Amino acid sequence: MGVYAVTGSASGMGAAVCERLRAAEHDVVTVDIRDADVIADLSTPAGRRTAVEKVLAASGGRLDGAVLAAGLGPAPGRERPALVTQVNYFGVVELLEGWRDALAAAGNAKVVVFGSNSATTMPLIPARAVAALLAGDSERALRTYRIFGRNAPTMAYGASKVAISRWVRRRAVEPEWVDAGIRLNAIAPGAVLTPLLEKQLATPGEARAIRAFPVPAGGYGDPGLLADWVIHMLSPAADFMVGSVVVVDGGSDAWFRADDWPGPVLARRLRGYLRKMREFRRVS
Ligand code: NAD
Repeated sequence: MGVYAVTGSASGMGAAVCERLRAAEHDVVTVDIRDADVIADLSTPAGRRTAVEKVLAASGGRLDGAVLAAGLGPAPGRERPALVTQVNYFGVVELLEGWRDALAAAGNAKVVVFGSNSATTMPLIPARAVAALLAGDSERALRTYRIFGRNAPTMAYGASKVAISRWVRRRAVEPEWVDAGIRLNAIAPGAVLTPLLEKQLATPGEARAIRAFPVPAGGYGDPGLLADWVIHMLSPAADFMVGSVVVVDGGSDAWFRADDWPGPVLARRLRGYLRKMREFRRVS
């Protein structure tokens, strides 16, 4: 049986993942700001260091997998963009960087990061903020949200999810991860009925926006069903799955973006494509 680290374990989809892992007799090291083996505030660098160190100590330096589910939604408030940025982006990147050697030690570890379909269905997420996050510059990202006024937390949420999904796809194919047997993938849920969504539904303005949002399948996702997808992505079924973003959102992404992806490599992208061909280091 394996050893898995799960952040955001105290609630919602993280809790549902833990329940399933334990039912399959795996050891789970839980990380959350409350009710967890490792109590750590992932919105601070010190909290993230604590999470890295205590999980390494509890797992004996070997992890068969990790699920990064801790996250904050786009609630109102001046401090919210910074909090969302720290937890949703740096609370994933710094933990995975700190756990990489432990994941490599397992030889075939699987990692699932929680993105969101907001990354592809929310309009006008500032590309400059995404670039700033990927460059590790949270202050520059935060400056770009100012022009959005009271929508700044929503933009910070969207940008954190685009950036973390891209970070996953970039790292997933790097030798440091893929050659170490680590399979790094993301899941992109739509609206799932967890305490995070319940809080949003309790705010009349947000509730109106959520209810008006197109979901072809109707209703909300069930946290347990999302956890089932995560468990599958932690299993040997994911041995050949690298850098995928699995969208489970009742069809919202397909509604808005059906013609965007899959798509051909356009003529204006051909030069970059050929450069990637040349850069590839092995012949299988
Ligand atoms: P949830 O609120 O039920 O659980 C999130 C967990 O993260 C909580 O246990 C919370 O304590 C923890 N957390 C928050 N801030 C923290 C901090 N500073 N330090 C440590 N832990 C902290 O939420 P959920 O809906 O289960 O969300 C799980 C993930 O899925 C999140 O990343 C969220 O952004 C993403 N997501 C959720 C939805 C949805 O509709 N519920 C949709 C798309 C993506």
